[in-house]
Amino acid sequence: MSAAIIDGKAFAGALRARIATHAARFEQGAGRKAGLAVVLVGEDPASAVYVRSKGRQTVEAGMASFEHRLPADTDEATLLALIEQLNADPAVDGILVQLPLPAHLSEQTVIAAIDPDKDVDGFHTTNAGRLAVGQKGFVPCTPLGCLMLLKDQLGDLSGLEAVVIGRSNIVGKPMAALLLGESCTVTVAHSRTKNLPDVVRRADIVVAAVGRPLMVQGDWIKPGACVIDVGINRVEGPEGKPMLVGDVDYASGVQVAGAITPVPGGVGPMTIAVLLANTLTAAHARAGLPAPDLS
Ligand code: NDP
Repeated sequence: MSAAIIDGKAFAGALRARIATHAARFEQGAGRKAGLAVVLVGEDPASAVYVRSKGRQTVEAGMASFEHRLPADTDEATLLALIEQLNADPAVDGILVQLPLPAHLSEQTVIAAIDPDKDVDGFHTTNAGRLAVGQKGFVPCTPLGCLMLLKDQLGDLSGLEAVVIGRSNIVGKPMAALLLGESCTVTVAHSRTKNLPDVVRRADIVVAAVGRPLMVQGDWIKPGACVIDVGINRVEGPEGKPMLVGDVDYASGVQVAGAITPVPGGVGPMTIAVLLANTLTAAHARAGLPAPDLS
């Protein structure tokens, strides 16, 4: 039996279309566009690609994009001053600082400087705390995108066994909190977990966010489980050409799972779509309007 393929690209496209409809309504009602500011420090090529893509999709959704590119040797005071300025700017609803930052800058200090109500990446400890205690707040985009795909595929998640592999602050931990919020029984696995294949085998839902190419094998997966592969790993493909693979061995996983996300085209496209959704939600809150229904 072969798994259903979860088409994140199509799902994200449909979500962006709903966002565009609501963004146009917001502009009519508020007399201004919802706005996202993206700050890029340095010239990391992968980050530059992400920032370009975010800017383009923001504009395509009918929102305003403000890009701030700073040189790699920017000092912390200059970066913090820019964030202060964006916090105070009424045209800016969401602020995203592209990570990773150059080594001399403290990500923790920089994220802490963002107004939590404009923290559309959901990385500020205020928003992490809100998620942990089940209050409304901004949720990191990638795990929220994974949850949307899971609910679309499975409906009610209550009572299901979920195993999240990875415990980073941007994917693993918020993913686990979201699944707990859906009343799953959640296990968080990491590099010290013993007998990982056995842990994964009991899961109805597997979320792999590790960064190790093709680590999760088909025979680790419970037949019929729903597998969400967050990993993006650049490896050498046939004829030495670079290609992207996930953390799950898709070829064997697709034979066993009930549903599975491909890489690319699964979780990846969801991240920016959710970022736009969070920005539009921030804009509504700042304008005193009820949150748009993007479902
Ligand atoms: P991190 O490197 O921050 O975290 C990786 C996690 O995997 C850690 O918790 C680590 O455990 C765990 N881990 C490492 N090796 C093993 C192992 N052998 N067995 C079990 N667990 C292990 O990565 P991120 O969370 O930032 O990202 C994970 C992956 O997701 C990457 O491939 C990244 O590129 C991708 N990603 C994709 C996004 C998208 O838009 N689709 C967005 C963000 C990330 P420990 O804590 O013990 O070290």
